[in-house]
Amino acid sequence: MGMIECPQCGEEISDQTKSCPHCGFSVQVARLGRYLERRQKEHPKTYRVLKFFFIVVIFGLVFWLLARR
Ligand SMILES: [Zn+2]
Repeated sequence: MGMIECPQCGEEISDQTKSCPHCGFSVQVARLGRYLERRQKEHPKTYRVLKFFFIVVIFGLVFWLLARR
């Protein structure tokens, strides 16, 4: 178990905790953001394709919902 610095308030917090006890910042969300950032740097092309696919799916869903009415 290590200590990390809270990106929100800068206090030292456990890296096992779900949220910062000082400011309530969600460490899990920050970790997920960092993970996605790292993935994006490692595979920029794959990530772009995935993002494009994600947008297409969202738009498709919206249009499908609108068309159903
Ligand atoms: Zn904090």
